[in-house]
Amino acid sequence: MIKINISKTLEAKIKKGYPWVFKYQLQKKVTESSSGLAVLYDHKNRFLAIGLWDPDSDLCFRVLNLSEPKEIGTNFFRERFQKALLLREGLHENGTTGYRILNGENDGFPGLILDRYDNTWVIKVYTASWFAHLEKILEVIRAEKNVKQVVLRLSRNVEKSSHPFYDGQVLLGPDPIIPVQFRENGLHFHVDVIKGQKTGFFLDQRDNRLLIKKNSAGLSVLNVFSYTGGFSIYAISGGCRKLVEIDSNSHALKFSLQNLKLNFPEKKDIEFRQIEGDAFQKLQELKLENTQFDLVILDPPAFARKKKHRPQALEAYSRLATLGVQLVKPGGRLFSASCSAHISAEEFNKAVNDGVSSAQKKLAEISRTGHAIDHPIQFAESEYLKSVMGWVGGKK
Ligand code: SAH
Repeated sequence: MIKINISKTLEAKIKKGYPWVFKYQLQKKVTESSSGLAVLYDHKNRFLAIGLWDPDSDLCFRVLNLSEPKEIGTNFFRERFQKALLLREGLHENGTTGYRILNGENDGFPGLILDRYDNTWVIKVYTASWFAHLEKILEVIRAEKNVKQVVLRLSRNVEKSSHPFYDGQVLLGPDPIIPVQFRENGLHFHVDVIKGQKTGFFLDQRDNRLLIKKNSAGLSVLNVFSYTGGFSIYAISGGCRKLVEIDSNSHALKFSLQNLKLNFPEKKDIEFRQIEGDAFQKLQELKLENTQFDLVILDPPAFARKKKHRPQALEAYSRLATLGVQLVKPGGRLFSASCSAHISAEEFNKAVNDGVSSAQKKLAEISRTGHAIDHPIQFAESEYLKSVMGWVGGKK
């Protein structure tokens, strides 16, 4: 088995639950060039953790089990999987059949996500070191009643490395018929589990969508970066009278229309419009048209995918807040979210408030929120989603 030595400082961090080792943190160079299981040793050369070794990634080691050696077999995974299922049990009562079952490191499956869309389950791997264990994971999943098929999705870096798997591969059961349908808080959604972003849907925003639903009655709403209409459907279900979506992806906008028809086949009393294009540009155009809204939702893709992108990302969040808040009617509301793991909630809130201030407005915060409950957090780096909602007023 591959042997890894790290510094005393990192050792202390890992003992507290931090689950990663990066290549530059290795005390001795590891020559093993294929992925597999590795053992982490403490500064006295005693066992510290067993985990996954990935030679193709800077994030070369992810902790599977701390403190004591364990056999990494089907039983090991089953135990963790059952625990994760228990945490999510209550979701069904709310009419939700689409949710995250395994949230990577936070559920003891480092670098692996399992999302369920009714009886279509999707595994997404962020390291090729999971391929050796896929059969065991499938064995665990196969025992569940509600599984018809399991689809594999690969992160960009894993897609590039050499292996016999491919993005969108069906690992179990018949090919899914796209779109797959599921429910969230009693609302219906279509999802493309093969080609859609992430595993097809942004499940992490579920609680925030509910917040929007509760705050939409009678309002005109602008949903920027609308994707397949998650926030839109909730706003309409909450009774908004006008809804405008902006997204650069025509495929996503088509899905959003489908989701609209799926939920409200008869609804005619709502003014609905879709704008395809770059959000920054389209927001400026709406400003020139003097169009304003009671509620503006900003939920962009991650602007900081890497640490070095942080300054530009903070600038972009600010700029977006300026452009968005300019379209909020006096006394209206702004909801702004960030899914950049490299940006903290404090930094994000400051960027949003700076942006609002540049538009000569002020934000009176109503709430700061984050992930839905099926996205538990065990260490700071996995707390990527942050959002803020506030009333918009004049600067003075
Ligand atoms: N709010 C959505 C998720 C947004 S994901 C939900 O709850 O489901 C980010 C979306 O931004 C994607 O649909 C992507 O197509 C879109 N996007 C990315 N860059 C964009 C840009 N510059 N202008 C407009 N849309 C963009």
